[in-house]
Amino acid sequence: MEIYLDANATTPVLAQARAAAMAVMDQDFGNPSSIHSTGLKARALMDTVRARARRVLGVATGELLFLSGATEGIQTAVLSALSALRQRRDEDAPGPARDLRWLLYGATEHKAVPEALRHWNRLLGLDLEVKAIPVGRDGRHDLDWLRAHAPQAGMVCTMAANNETGVISDLDGIAAVLASLEATQRPFWMVDGVQALGKLPLRLEARGIDYAPFSGHKLYAPKGIGLLYVRAGAPFTPLLAGGGQESALRSGTENMSGIAALGAVLAALEEGRDFRDGPTLHSYRERLTQALTDAFPALQFNAPPDLCLPTTLNFSVPGLSSKLLLDLFDAADVRVSGGSACSAAKAQPSYVLEAMGLPASQTASAVRLSFGPATDDAFIREACARIRACGEALRENCLSPTGNQPLPADGVTRFVVDGACCWLVADAASQRCVVIDPLPELNDRLSQWVRCQGYALAAVLDTHSHGDHASSAASLRAAVPELLAPGETDALGWPLVDGRHDRVAALVLGERRLTRLPIPGHTEDSTAYLLHDAHGLTTAFVGDMVMPGALGRSDFDQSAPFAYRDSLRQLAEVVGPHAVLAPAHDYDNRFASTLSAESAYQPLLAHALRGTLDAQAFAAAKAGLERHLALTEYQTMACGARIDGSRFEVDTEVDLAALRDLLERHPQARLIDVREPYEQRLSLLPDLPERGAGHRLQATPLSRLVDALPEWLSLPADQPLVFFCRSGNRSAQAAQALRRLGHEAAFTLAGGLALWPKEAAIDSALYV
Ligand code: PLP
Repeated sequence: MEIYLDANATTPVLAQARAAAMAVMDQDFGNPSSIHSTGLKARALMDTVRARARRVLGVATGELLFLSGATEGIQTAVLSALSALRQRRDEDAPGPARDLRWLLYGATEHKAVPEALRHWNRLLGLDLEVKAIPVGRDGRHDLDWLRAHAPQAGMVCTMAANNETGVISDLDGIAAVLASLEATQRPFWMVDGVQALGKLPLRLEARGIDYAPFSGHKLYAPKGIGLLYVRAGAPFTPLLAGGGQESALRSGTENMSGIAALGAVLAALEEGRDFRDGPTLHSYRERLTQALTDAFPALQFNAPPDLCLPTTLNFSVPGLSSKLLLDLFDAADVRVSGGSACSAAKAQPSYVLEAMGLPASQTASAVRLSFGPATDDAFIREACARIRACGEALRENCLSPTGNQPLPADGVTRFVVDGACCWLVADAASQRCVVIDPLPELNDRLSQWVRCQGYALAAVLDTHSHGDHASSAASLRAAVPELLAPGETDALGWPLVDGRHDRVAALVLGERRLTRLPIPGHTEDSTAYLLHDAHGLTTAFVGDMVMPGALGRSDFDQSAPFAYRDSLRQLAEVVGPHAVLAPAHDYDNRFASTLSAESAYQPLLAHALRGTLDAQAFAAAKAGLERHLALTEYQTMACGARIDGSRFEVDTEVDLAALRDLLERHPQARLIDVREPYEQRLSLLPDLPERGAGHRLQATPLSRLVDALPEWLSLPADQPLVFFCRSGNRSAQAAQALRRLGHEAAFTLAGGLALWPKEAAIDSALYV
């Protein structure tokens, strides 16, 4: 069962609303403008629903229009108010001229509001300044600021309750500020009532609100139906002109199935059926809060619960990104969101939480969990159980401070922060690990991981000293003194032989061994660390010397530009053309490179390896590339000149039918689940080893991709590797990376598991 906890984005349609809509499509399909009996029936239905909406909203006067949703309601309200402002300006109305300067909106308003203000302000040539009303840490409007600015405002827009945090606005406070103004100075007032409908009494008339838009799909009606309240006497300009429907206020044949469905929801609300009362909803929130706190002990709530709708919880878990938490919940079939649905596709911090002044660490890990007022007890019980299971999955994978019985980690794991890569090499048998190129942002996570696993930290290595900042290796070592291998190290962290200044020849991690290879260039001290297993070299950690699409820059004070070419040749001699090279930077999610693949994209590297440029000419050509290096997209210093000609994007998608075909033609094809282990543990995928055809299915999390590369790259180039994940994004990255490294038969499952009918997808397709 899916646990849908994203009701502020949209809700399912209530059964009786579906039935009402079906009846209208099936039987009572009349056009309410027709004057025959079929039409009259439709009009009667519409009148009944409108009357019900008036009762539910408590508005005896003014207009209540049916339209397509809140966005249209907002446009109509803004157009109406701004047209009136413009008309007043054009008519040069008698009396004291108002010094109008602003159109005001709450800083946490839905984007539809400021965008509509800007749009109509521009189109109508009003040229007022569209300005955000600041909110406090509690998410509520700054009323002193409003008091100071309202006399020069033409319109004020303040939502009733926020969609991301559930914070309920102080509408009485705002009403008092506006009422204190002279009537001639009073701005028009719109209250976006979308998240309040069915949850809060709005007292629209008593508060003197001019416009209030609503959307049906936020309260169990279908998408495409909404309401707009317009106060009696408030100016009105139709957005849609045409056949004169809705008393010519909103032309276009009415959405009768939507209206009928909305009517059924309003009836249930009015009659107290299906909807829980306030105390019950508060008790649901309490239970969810408890489950979340049990699952994520470090969790912080991002808005004060006593000021919020009981149906919305917004929280952050320090050290875990919104993306990680969303993937985790989704694997447990719990749908939550990282913010508003409209901006969820863009990985940007929430402007709502930023406006509340929350620190970046908190906005970057925010999750919104919201349920509708028709939720029941069994649903909340199951939701709480799944949330606790999510916490357990994190503990097992050492992602929670309370983890104690972890699954033993083994192999190479990658961590990325703004394009910078840190590598963890773990050996389960010997319970030893090494961190390569630590990053300060990962300090807490890595030290927690090491402590939770209880592995000895054999070394914290840097592949080079950094041009622009100190290494965070010392702080990582200091964080886990009890697990740190004793003894002296060189400046990059490599252990020295006891009592001497010689370096140890190899770092031993059970059957794995790390050796070092000096490769000066990017810096004088640049060093590659070569990982060997019982069968030979598997991976070379090469720092910034060779990155996917770039060679490390060599224009720092501590660079050795004239040694660069020979270092590359030395590296080639030691590791060969096909060894997997793990970089310290990877801005485009290419994961790793090989000298052979990289030479095809980077002509300078090819020249160096072929010996067609000497060290001087190589350094000069390279300096040319680095002359105008700009900051990266993360506003960090670029570690090398990226060769844009090597942008590599090919179509790797297969759909279900193509996959079946592929599996039929290639019995040796492999299906690779690249979701992280905590997701795989929660997901409904059957246990892999117990399945007859399980040899086809492999679990290789994206963070462990590089660990698997040496084996995959040794397979025949036509052996299909089909990657899949939740949405198709991560598996696409994996497939692209494999293609770039020369494995032509790498594919990604289009749309990911999200688009697959569960049973059909897993059982009949993946496990043929
Ligand atoms: N206002 C708020 C507070 C909302 O949450 C939403 C939807 O997310 C809207 C306006 C826009 O509603 P619709 O997309 O239904 O037009």
